[in-house]
Amino acid sequence: MAHAPTDSDYIVIVDEPANPAPAILTTPEAMRRWRAEHSGSLGFVPTMGYLHEGHLALVNRSCAENLRTVVSIFVNPTQFGPNEDFEKYPRDEVRDLSLLRDAGVDAVYLPSAAEMYPPGFQTYVNVEEVTQPLEGASRPGHFRGVATVVLKLFNAVGADRAYFGRKDAQQLRVIQRMTRDLDLGVEIVPCDIEREADGLAMSSRNVYLSPEQRAAAPILKRSLDHAKGLWAAGERNADTLRRAVLDILATEPLGEVDYVSLADDVTLEELTGTVTGPALLSLVVRFGRTRLLDNVELR
Ligand code: AMP
Repeated sequence: MAHAPTDSDYIVIVDEPANPAPAILTTPEAMRRWRAEHSGSLGFVPTMGYLHEGHLALVNRSCAENLRTVVSIFVNPTQFGPNEDFEKYPRDEVRDLSLLRDAGVDAVYLPSAAEMYPPGFQTYVNVEEVTQPLEGASRPGHFRGVATVVLKLFNAVGADRAYFGRKDAQQLRVIQRMTRDLDLGVEIVPCDIEREADGLAMSSRNVYLSPEQRAAAPILKRSLDHAKGLWAAGERNADTLRRAVLDILATEPLGEVDYVSLADDVTLEELTGTVTGPALLSLVVRFGRTRLLDNVELR
């Protein structure tokens, strides 16, 4: 029977996020205190912010596999070279925090550079052989900065598991090595590369690309896929596989090849002759000043 509308006939939709805001922790002491107050399995996702779907895939996996998840956002000055993009590295803390709230993250660790590197700071972690080739050769000191900051983050967060993307393949191996060598007791969980629809690996640095460079950038993935196809068809010669990638990259005038490497999957020693074991095929191509990384594992 029809009746005059009353309050109970309306559903009030309030535009409020479903999840509580994560705790924001800005010092190692505050981070450690939070951990001490929250028992149970803890997953950790270290990032430099300016989050995209690649980061969020790590976050979602951590949330699914742990009782709680902490994400750090810290643009680490010690892993940038003097002529690199530390100052202009993209940052958007407000958007990042909103994405992390939507993802259901429990705490965000946001230390300042002054907290992380107090006056007189002089202790660094040097992971040896595995940091030498590839990114280590192109970016001297980079992995010293990465290993040092990750150890510091691990010490403050106290996580059971830490999530790293395969996109930064050498970084993943450096962290795995350091974690074993220094008995850190954190399980390192490698996560697959998230890509744009046209195959370009997601990266905070993709915003630097001009429209023309962005349109050309999927050639990285295409060249890797071609070599992967050769591998699947039985090609095992290291030079032939590297050459196949280089030949495709050479067709793109906007991209300048920094390196194409076919290396042992664990030690990252460059391979020659017939490849027997699992290998990492990785490359860096520069578009203007922007270095784009990509890789594929050949098993
Ligand atoms: P960054 O903020 O660039 O330091 O990256 C933080 C973490 O996200 C690292 O473990 C990266 O390997 C990972 N990551 C970045 N881009 C991607 C991607 N496209 N797919 C998967 N993981 C990624």
